[in-house]
Order: sequence, then structure tokens, then C-alpha cells
Amino acid sequence: MTAQTQPVFPKDADALRAEVIETARALPKLGLTKGTSGNVSARTEDGFLITPSGTPYEDLTEEKIVAVDMQGCYRGDILPSSEWRMHLDFYLAKPGCGAVVHCHSPRATALACHRKGIPAFHYMVALAGGDRIDCSRYESFGTRALSEAMIDALGDRNACLLANHGQIAGGATLKKALSVAEGVEDLADQYLSALAIGQPVILDAAEMADILKKFKTYGKQAGDLKDGQSAAFELPKRVG
Ligand code: 13P
Ligand code: ZN
Repeated sequence: MTAQTQPVFPKDADALRAEVIETARALPKLGLTKGTSGNVSARTEDGFLITPSGTPYEDLTEEKIVAVDMQGCYRGDILPSSEWRMHLDFYLAKPGCGAVVHCHSPRATALACHRKGIPAFHYMVALAGGDRIDCSRYESFGTRALSEAMIDALGDRNACLLANHGQIAGGATLKKALSVAEGVEDLADQYLSALAIGQPVILDAAEMADILKKFKTYGKQAGDLKDGQSAAFELPKRVG
């Protein structure tokens, strides 16, 4: 991710704990994970709030959400997610990310088990901030080595697949991180379908550079555009 200011979350830590739980519970609801697989965190002023390890989503309560600081320290009797280091390193590497979602979504995991990333077979790969979504090398879950492999696979993007494991995605807010994870799963689904009848056509670097430019203004209303920014689309003529 390019230089961006760090997202600022509301000071009310209880509200953020509740939002972490809401996002975590959305994972099984959306079919993005099952059982106790996956974890969710949100950045705070001095670290992040993360789901506890090995806890079914329905059993989450605000007291069970663990605060971890940027030195990797926590307090209390509840163990943070075994993937705390991936979350910590994600925040260190991506100043623009305020939330991280890790899950074992079925189609992304299927690709990751073949150690295949998602190339620009569809322009929507740009949702992760680049012209492809890579798959990391394999490392065991809950290790520093896995975190290092994740950082290598992320490059300057906000999501990657994790070999023989799943996917991880970040965004400015919890909603955004969840929507990137959903988007990665959608793309994996479409890519697997496309592969079923041969090799799909891959968009070239120039086209993807153009798409990434368009993503900067896509979804914004005229009033939301910053000085010097103009919509990268041909607009109909406004007559009223
Ligand atoms: P935690 O329950 O420790 O968060 O682990 C789940 C997981 O997905 C490990 O990769
Ligand atoms: Zn996992």
C-alpha cells in the first residue's frame, strides 16, 4: 500500500471490540470460514484488538477480545489468536490498514492448496490494490515463518493466499477488510470456474494499470473527488 495516514478508530474500545465480534461472526455467516478457523483484528492507538485463539464464533464476548501491543505483548488469561504475529506484521507493513481478516474460505483455500495465486484473469483483482493476488510459500500455522511468507506474498497489495491454508486481507476499516476477503473468495470462485474450460485470457500490465487508476475514483460521487481528481470514466452529460 502506498503512503497513507493511519486509520483512526473511535476512542471507545468497547465499541471496537463489539465491531470485531460482529465482523468475526460474519465470516461463518458469509460462508467464508467454519468452526474456529480464521481470526479478525482491528488496529488501536498502540496495537490491535484480536479474536481469542480456538474460540467458536458464537462464544465470543467483548471480554474475550484480546489487546496486543506492537511489541507483541498482551495481558490477562485469554490467549490471543495463534496468528497474532501475522496481524501485527500486517499492521507494521501497511500503515493504511486498520483491520485484518484471516479465513479459510473454501475456493481461495482450494487454489492455495495448489499454491496458485490469482492472476489478472478478471479486472476485479485490483480490489486487493494490485494487478494480481499472490499465494505465499507454505509455512506452518501460527509461526513467525508464516508471517514472513505472508509479507513476501502481499508485496504492495492488501491481500494474499496462504499456501495449504487460506487467505488474509486488510483494509482501512473492519467492513473494508471483510469486503476484501469476500472479494478474494469471489475471484477464487470465478478463477476456478474459468480454469475448468482451459486457461483464461490474462489482462496485460497496461490494462491493469489503467484499472487501478479507475479504482481510485470508482464509487465516489463528484463531491467526494479531491482537488485535481477527475472520474476516470466517460460520464453522461449532466443536464440538471
Ligand atoms: P486461532 O483460533 O488461534 O485464531 O487460529 C485459527 C486459524 O485460522 C489458524 O491459522
Ligand atoms: Zn488459519
